Amino acid sequence: MQDNTEAHGNTWHSLSSEQVRQQLEVPDQGLEDTEVVHRRQRWGANQLPGVKPRPLWLRLLSQFNHVLIYVLLVAASVTALLGHWLDTSVILAVVLLQGIVGFIQEGRAEQALAAIRHMLAPQALVLRNGERQRIDAADLVPGDILLLEAGDRVAADIRLEQVHGLKVDEALLTGESVPVDKRSDALDTQTALADRLCMAYSGTLVNAGTARGIVVATGESSEIGRISGLLDSVTVLQTPLLEQMNRFAKYLSLVIVLAGALVFLSGWLFSERPPVELFMAVVALTVSAIPEGLPAILTITLAIGVRRMASRHAVVRRMPVIETLGAVSVICSDKTGTLTRNEMVVTQLVIGDRAWPVSGEGYHSSGRIGDNGETPPAALLEQLALASLLCNDAELRQQDGQLRVIGDPMEGALLALASKADADPATLKAAWPRSDEIPFDADLRWMATLNHDHHGHAMLLLKGAPERVLALCSSALDAEATAQPLDQDWWQQQIEQLASQGLRVLALARKPLAADCRELHVDAVDGELQLIGIVGLLDPPRQEAREAIAECHQAGIRVKMITGDHGLTARAIAAMLGLHNSTEVATGADIDQLDDQALRELATRVDVFARTSPEHKLRLVQALQAEHGVVAMTGDGVNDAPALKRADVGIAMGRKGSAAAREASDVVLLDDNFASLAAAVREGRTVYTNLKKAVSFLLPINGGEAASLVVALLIGLTLPITALQILWINLVSSVVLAMGLAFEPTEAGAMRKPPRPLKQPMLDSFLVWRILLVSLLFLGGIFASFQWALGAGYSEAEARSLAVNTLVAMEVFYLFAVRYLDSASLTLRGTLGTPAVWIVVGLVCLLQWLMTYTAAMQALFDTASLPALLLVIPVLAGVGVLLVLELEKKVMGRASAA
Ligand code: ATP
Repeated sequence: MQDNTEAHGNTWHSLSSEQVRQQLEVPDQGLEDTEVVHRRQRWGANQLPGVKPRPLWLRLLSQFNHVLIYVLLVAASVTALLGHWLDTSVILAVVLLQGIVGFIQEGRAEQALAAIRHMLAPQALVLRNGERQRIDAADLVPGDILLLEAGDRVAADIRLEQVHGLKVDEALLTGESVPVDKRSDALDTQTALADRLCMAYSGTLVNAGTARGIVVATGESSEIGRISGLLDSVTVLQTPLLEQMNRFAKYLSLVIVLAGALVFLSGWLFSERPPVELFMAVVALTVSAIPEGLPAILTITLAIGVRRMASRHAVVRRMPVIETLGAVSVICSDKTGTLTRNEMVVTQLVIGDRAWPVSGEGYHSSGRIGDNGETPPAALLEQLALASLLCNDAELRQQDGQLRVIGDPMEGALLALASKADADPATLKAAWPRSDEIPFDADLRWMATLNHDHHGHAMLLLKGAPERVLALCSSALDAEATAQPLDQDWWQQQIEQLASQGLRVLALARKPLAADCRELHVDAVDGELQLIGIVGLLDPPRQEAREAIAECHQAGIRVKMITGDHGLTARAIAAMLGLHNSTEVATGADIDQLDDQALRELATRVDVFARTSPEHKLRLVQALQAEHGVVAMTGDGVNDAPALKRADVGIAMGRKGSAAAREASDVVLLDDNFASLAAAVREGRTVYTNLKKAVSFLLPINGGEAASLVVALLIGLTLPITALQILWINLVSSVVLAMGLAFEPTEAGAMRKPPRPLKQPMLDSFLVWRILLVSLLFLGGIFASFQWALGAGYSEAEARSLAVNTLVAMEVFYLFAVRYLDSASLTLRGTLGTPAVWIVVGLVCLLQWLMTYTAAMQALFDTASLPALLLVIPVLAGVGVLLVLELEKKVMGRASAA
């Protein structure tokens, strides 16, 4: 077998599936674990080589590719030419420091993203050791039996051996956008790739149907591996806001450099200052006004947000969505699994002429059908068990001491029901092997199988949404399991009875067929089926979803349930979950009746949509967006992709979701839980607020510094702070302090405010006002302390040291003020701060001490030791800033309340 995969290269399509099995030595039950290990060693992991990371040196070098760095380098060269070696070396040291800090931060952000990519590793369903197993796609080896269903991305090249309505989108490989209908018969050796109907290739997408095939090529040997080798695209931590801010910083730098040149020119022409002094003043002005630390702080704030969301099971796939998440005003959620637990158990059934309770919990066979010593007629129970077991793709397996379901939990519940009816799965499956099937399809809302026993009988078994199944039946089985005319009204009542209790209702039916019938087509499912009965499944709402919905309502976010389930079931569950409008239910059929205008009205008013299909989801997103909603929409099926793409935030389910839905989404919920979605929205609001805090923290520092230099230059006073001191403040103290803001927790009232309008600029009038106000306060502090010290007879170096320390102290107090942008900071919570805040404050105090009192730093930064008593001034200035801002918040709060 060793060289068979190579020998057949790409001619597997010309062999029959039996020949493929023989060549690759594939047992009926699939490969054994030991054989898998052996084959993995032989062929390696099923992975394509990823994009090579940029070499370290290039990453380091790219850190210096910034306008700011160019400005600093020019400044360093001129100071060197002027013989100011000390300034040159400090500027160069700062450039280097900035580069290294950027390099490290970028590395950490990339690590965070790599971890996230790992969380989303693709999976595959295989048959190994006779069991269905969900494994990492990377673990597939040639000879594995791969099972495909709608929405899967094919994980390796396979030779198909069983195909049921399989349609595959091969655009990635062939460029052909129309999905191809697959078959399993062998083809001519010369058949072109696009026409090899019996093959499914790695990377292509299953649009519909199910199939089973044998892996013939993995990793780089697969067709896609041969063509490109590189598929994986690198995600970068970039969002519209960040781009906007980077652009802002760039333009600001240019404007400032030009302004500096102008100042230099006019100073040279009109003032007495020597050019060297003027040049140093311009350098100081330039570096003071450029917000050097801003881009790095914003990036790290986003990276922390992404990490926090991942820890709450919400994995961000596209970075820009983090900003949008905080602005979401409508959440459209699936029901099953997202709002409910998706742990199903049959609690009622209707067979013969009455309803029967079913007891027991989970997927266990303990529990009984019937009450008060009465049990349903045995003949009927037998038929029910037969349909429940055979028209079913799930398996129950003991894992970690618990009975778990591999596949659809609803089908798992039917297996448990069959056990309660004393049916033995292994015996029945052996007695009635499946010959063909029509897989479940969200449009049909049912699935059917064709089974043959060993006595020449053929039986069609079908299960699905009760109203659809009822429409396909002409009779129902009575107590003796003989067909009697169907009483539509009576069954309809029974369905409504179960659904209005919040139970998920499913109907089961059968039809004996001619023994020679080996294939099943949708037309064979005519109106002549025999109804066996209906079952009611309990799928309790998640308690945490109920709480999360209440939180969303408080935050001004409307929650809508869009489900494929029955209207009455949806309504009952919506009421249990506390949706706003849980009395009115619109169905997919209702939506079909409406034009876009009418749908907008309905979509706004109604919160529960039932029996919808993916097309309805798309129309609903569009209608809600037209009403100015920022819409988050969940989805799991292959056909949900258009709605997920259209929504402002598309959310796929990590467990239940198909690869197609995940790939179309912005966020993946690893645990499928609505509460995680609400947490992601909360985190989105937090990240946005923290970005806003970082901006409003950093910009006034530049404003205050630049203003004090301009004022000094204009009125011909000595500069209160030197260029090097400003570099220190901007690149060391401010960045360290701002880092504390990136870790800010969610504000207490964050989920009690209405959502922010998406298009609202971050620098709104409030923020601009705040930045101007604080700039003025900083200007006042710097100037007052400097001039006072000079007046009191201190040296210039001492006066500058005092000015620098005053500015940094004001920053520290401002940090506490900015932690609550528009509410009081002088509260117990505000004063206690967070560990991150105290760490950065401690660090900055230490750094300031070093800068002021150590000889080496004094030589570098032109500072001088200050008497301890003088340090009262910076503290007083800081307290002043805090008090003024508290007052401003109060006044502003009153004004906006009025
Ligand atoms: P949601 O959209 O909230 O996840 P859902 O799971 O009910 O709800 P669909 O998966 O579209 O939505 O299912 C629609 C209906 O089709 C179900 O209510 C059920 O009646 C039927 N159905 C679902 N899965 C199966 C299945 N495996 N076999 C037969 N019928 C099914």
